[in-house]
Amino acid sequence: MEDILEKVKKEVGGKAMDIDRNNDMGDLVDFIKKSGILGVTVPEEYGGLGKGYYEACILGEELAKISGGVAHSIIVHGMAVDAIKMFGNEEQKEKYLPELARSFGGLAITEGRGGSDVANAVSMKAEKQGDVYVLNGTKTLITNGMFSDYFIVVGRTGEGGRGLTAFIVEKGDGIKPRKIELSGMRGSGLASLRFDNVEVPEENVLVAEGKGMRVALGTLAPNRVPFSAMGLGLAERCLELAIKRAKTRKAFGGTLSDLQAVQFMIADVAVEVEALRRMIYSIAKDMKDPTYEGAVVKIFSSRVAKKAADMAVQVYGGFGLHSCTAVEMAYRDAKVLDIAEGASEVMKLLISRNIFS
Ligand SMILES: Cc1cc2nc3c(=O)[nH]c(=O)nc-3n(C[C@H](O)[C@H](O)[C@H](O)COP(=O)(O)OP(=O)(O)OC[C@H]3O[C@@H](n4cnc5c(N)ncnc54)[C@H](O)[C@@H]3O)c2cc1C
Repeated sequence: MEDILEKVKKEVGGKAMDIDRNNDMGDLVDFIKKSGILGVTVPEEYGGLGKGYYEACILGEELAKISGGVAHSIIVHGMAVDAIKMFGNEEQKEKYLPELARSFGGLAITEGRGGSDVANAVSMKAEKQGDVYVLNGTKTLITNGMFSDYFIVVGRTGEGGRGLTAFIVEKGDGIKPRKIELSGMRGSGLASLRFDNVEVPEENVLVAEGKGMRVALGTLAPNRVPFSAMGLGLAERCLELAIKRAKTRKAFGGTLSDLQAVQFMIADVAVEVEALRRMIYSIAKDMKDPTYEGAVVKIFSSRVAKKAADMAVQVYGGFGLHSCTAVEMAYRDAKVLDIAEGASEVMKLLISRNIFS
C-alpha cells in the first residue's frame, strides 16, 4: 500500500492548491482510478489489497496533509466499499467490489430536507415495479457525486413509503449530477444528484427491503474513524506550517518562535495532536463499539483540527487569511469535519445515549 500512497501523494502534491481553487480534481480522477488506491480496503479475493480501518486511517491522515478534498474523496469511497463488504450478498460482492477497486463509489443518503434526521428527511421514492425499483428524487451534498460510477442510495419503499431501503445504483442508470461549490474540502466532487425514473434491479437491494437505516448507520459508524484521521492529517499540516513560520518570521529582534505566547499556542496544539493520533490508531486497531467510538473520535478530531487551523492562521497573522494559501485552506477544510458524516451535536447524542442508556 505504501508505494501506491506515495505515488498518489506525489501526484496530488503539486496540484493541491489548484484543486482547491478550481473545486475540481481534473485529470487526477483518472490517475486515482488507475493508481490502485481505490482498492486498498477491497478484499483480496475481489481484486483489492484487503486492508482495514487502520490502513484507511493512514490514507486519510497522509492525504489530508496535502489535500482535504482528495482525502475526503478517498475516505467516502471507502464507505461505499464498506457498505458492500458489510451488507452485500455474495453476488453483489462479486459484481461490485472488483469494480470499486478501480472506480469511485459514493454514499447518497442526505437530501435537502436534512442529513441528521435521516429516518424522516429521506423523501426519495423507490417504487417497486415488477422486478425493478424506480427511483425519483434528489440527493444533495454527495461526495464524489461528480465522478462516481457507483452509489449506495437510500430511498423510501413499501406501503405509504414507510420503509427505507438501500440500493447499489450504477451511474449509467441515468443519475444527473450538479456540482456544489463549498468552502471546504474542495475538489471532492461534491454534487447534488437528480434521479428521474432511475430503474434499479431488485437484486441490487442491500440486505432486504426496509433495512436501509441499518445499512446507512452501520456503514457510517466505523468509517467515522478513518474520516477522523483526516482531522489528524490537517492538524499535523497546520502544526508543521506554524512551526516553520514561527522559526523564520522576524519580529522584535528575533523570530516569532522566540516569543513564549507563540510557543505556547503551538505547544497546546502539539499536545492535542499527540492525543488524537493515539486515539485514532488505537481505536482503528481494535474497534469494539463503532457507534460510540466513531462518535468520540469524530468530535475530538474536528475540535483538534479546528484549533490547529485557527492557531496556524494566528501564527501567520494577516498572511494566514490570504485566500487559497495552505493555512487558509486548512481553516476552511477543518470546519467540514464538524458537519459532514454526522454533525458534532449528533455525535454528542450518540455518546450520551451510550452513557445514559
Ligand atoms: C463536505 C460535505 C460532504 C458530505 N458528503 C456526504 C455524502 O457523501 N453523502 C451523504 O449522504 N451526505 C453527505 N454530506 C451531508 C452530511 O452528512 C450532512 O450535512 C450532515 O449529516 C448534517 O445534515 P444537514 O447538513 O442536513 O444539517 P441538519 O440536519 O439540518 O442539521 C443542522 C444542524 O442542526 C444541529 N442538529 C441537527 N440534529 C441535531 C440533534 N439531533 N441534536 C442536536 N443538534 C442537532 C447540528 O448543529 C447540525 O449541524 C456531506 C456534507 C458535507 C458538508
